[in-house]
Amino acid sequence: MPDILESEIKYLPGVGPQRKKILSTELDIHTFEDLLQNFPYKYVDRSRIYRIREITGEMPFVQIAGQILSFESFDMGAYKKRVVAHFTDGEKIMDLTWFNGGRYAMKTYKPRTNYIVFGKPTVFNGRINIVHPEIDPVEETQTSGMGMQPYYSTTEKMKKQGLTSRSIEKLTKNLLDRLKNPIPETICCDILSRLHLISRDEALRTIHYPKNTKLLEQARIRLKFEELFFVQLNIVRYASDHRRKFRGYTFNHIGDIFNGFYHNCLPFQLTEAQKRVIREIRQDVGSGRQMNRLLQGDVGSGKTLVALMTMLIALDNGFQACIMAPTEILAEQHLATIRQLLGGMNITTELLTGMVKGKKRKEVLDRLENGEINILVGTHAIIEDTVRFSRLGLVVVDEQHRFGVEQRARLWSKSENPPHVLVMTATPIPRTLAMTLYGDLDVSVIDELPPGRKPIVTRHFYDNGMASLYSGIRQQINLGRQAYIVFPLIEESEKTDLKNLEDGYEILCHTFPEFKLSKVHGRMKPRDKEEEMNKFVCGETQILVATTVIEVGVNVPNASVMVILDAQRFGLSQLHQLRGRVGRGAEQSFCILVTNSKMSDDTRKRIDIMCDTNDGFRIAEADLKLRGPGDLEGTQQSGMAFDLKIADIARDGQIVQMARDEAQRIIEDDPECNSQKYAMLWDRLRQLKKNDINWAAIS
Ligand code: ADP
Ligand code: MG
Repeated sequence: MPDILESEIKYLPGVGPQRKKILSTELDIHTFEDLLQNFPYKYVDRSRIYRIREITGEMPFVQIAGQILSFESFDMGAYKKRVVAHFTDGEKIMDLTWFNGGRYAMKTYKPRTNYIVFGKPTVFNGRINIVHPEIDPVEETQTSGMGMQPYYSTTEKMKKQGLTSRSIEKLTKNLLDRLKNPIPETICCDILSRLHLISRDEALRTIHYPKNTKLLEQARIRLKFEELFFVQLNIVRYASDHRRKFRGYTFNHIGDIFNGFYHNCLPFQLTEAQKRVIREIRQDVGSGRQMNRLLQGDVGSGKTLVALMTMLIALDNGFQACIMAPTEILAEQHLATIRQLLGGMNITTELLTGMVKGKKRKEVLDRLENGEINILVGTHAIIEDTVRFSRLGLVVVDEQHRFGVEQRARLWSKSENPPHVLVMTATPIPRTLAMTLYGDLDVSVIDELPPGRKPIVTRHFYDNGMASLYSGIRQQINLGRQAYIVFPLIEESEKTDLKNLEDGYEILCHTFPEFKLSKVHGRMKPRDKEEEMNKFVCGETQILVATTVIEVGVNVPNASVMVILDAQRFGLSQLHQLRGRVGRGAEQSFCILVTNSKMSDDTRKRIDIMCDTNDGFRIAEADLKLRGPGDLEGTQQSGMAFDLKIADIARDGQIVQMARDEAQRIIEDDPECNSQKYAMLWDRLRQLKKNDINWAAIS
């Protein structure tokens, strides 16, 4: 039986060729089902009719029943008219005003006829007034129900063509009325009853026409679950499939290299968290299946060391390993760190970035291919086709959010079996987001900082308090510390930003004549940048004036002050990353966020959270709530675009978890995904994947 919901939208009465086109281009609605899945973004309670005497200008939307007494029009400039209708409920009079479309209103609405008007009241000239009201004849409002009225998103283009929220409402109602049979279910009834979810039919009818808020809530939960459940089912299915299909290399041998490093080179005790994570990794790489692991840990928690020790396990088993950083500076830093840690050990490390060219590049590539190089450190240059390993067993990726599923797949072509993959993330991702974005990865968490670190003290300063800020900086430097001063540099306003940085640098040089300053920004030649940076790293300069180029990875334990100017222009995770540049030594460190005195609510929230906590996970959760997942850096590249219609992974964490558990239970029960018992689910999953390219992209 063909599913009526798959019918093209043009077969719905009320949808002509023009509307068909605009619905598809503006709202991505092509079928009956798409229209049903176009959920209202808000509801307005229309169950109550107000008297004019009750209304004040402070009220939200209200509706009033009554009649128009007369129209009046006023010229506004050459061609425009303001039209006012005097409207009465039989007791008092109010005004309805049109700045546009007044002529149409005069033609359409007749005096001495019963109407329900609806809109946001204001007070004008001492009289209650509604600008651009919605007006319905009384009979029509009665048939369409007087409960909660749904509001649908519209675009400018739609409005121009007269396709308003109200028209969408009518089309949707029309469709629901035509669907005489229950809307087909997509989730097996044992799941529904176990989780106390209502049927799809009830949920879809209620979401468009809720009788009350309680039923609406039930409908929303059911639909959110459905949406998240199929995302999770797809991810879990993919991961389990992948696991069965691909063997991984088995690293079952811990040998001289790992042990030699552990006993002779390790400059400190591992934290308990580091030990636990290394155990998890050892188990994983020794299991015979391919490791796909996300290593989460706040800045400074010692992920690099864990990555290095994992690489040593690969080497002990006769494999090569590589580590990829998001930028050249970081790659170089990683190489320097690794070489220093490995000290006198007989391990060959090399660098491969876009900057390594010509003869040097050829030499690196040759030595890589004949197996001479044990550890390759680089940027994305590593995944280019020309880069061939002799025996690549492990890939470490630093900073996951610039590295999606697709790139991971490209790595596989570099060895017989897929190498093990360890993805490190310094931007902590909240659990619910990780589950949705990186659901096919296992997760290890370093939830402990190395001992002796003092929590960074974070303070907020207004930009008129710079004098005391400067004296604080001076004090710290006189104690032998160093300071970062960060200027924002946002691409769209790059020119002014650079000027701010240059001017600021001059001022700072005058303010601190007794100190030496370095200056770094992304527009400098790499060599100059490095030179300036190095002066700061080796303590020759005391203040580093910079843009966010220092955001990730720079490691100067002696720096104890991080000043962030125009802090309102940075997002939470960026502020947290920047703050992570200090607090790396044993001394007390400070982070100073400077804003002007006109702070928006959002800015205030961000600053408060920063001053309140150093916990990256709390900050990431807050960030997700403030910005929504769509804005999170790099989610587009993660391999799964966020196209959730009703669920919000920031706020619906519990439902994400429910969906995940349920999906896992089903895959365990039916690993081949072909049991008749779950046929309904597999059919639906196939249908979703067929209709939506975004779904296909992740498997
Ligand atoms: P992340 O990459 O997680 O931001 P790093 O690996 O760069 O952190 O480590 C931050 C600093 O802490 C480095 O200087 C590193 O040498 C040091 N470190 C790492 N692990 C420990 C430990 N167990 N004890 C003391 N210091 C450590
Ligand atoms: Mg790091």
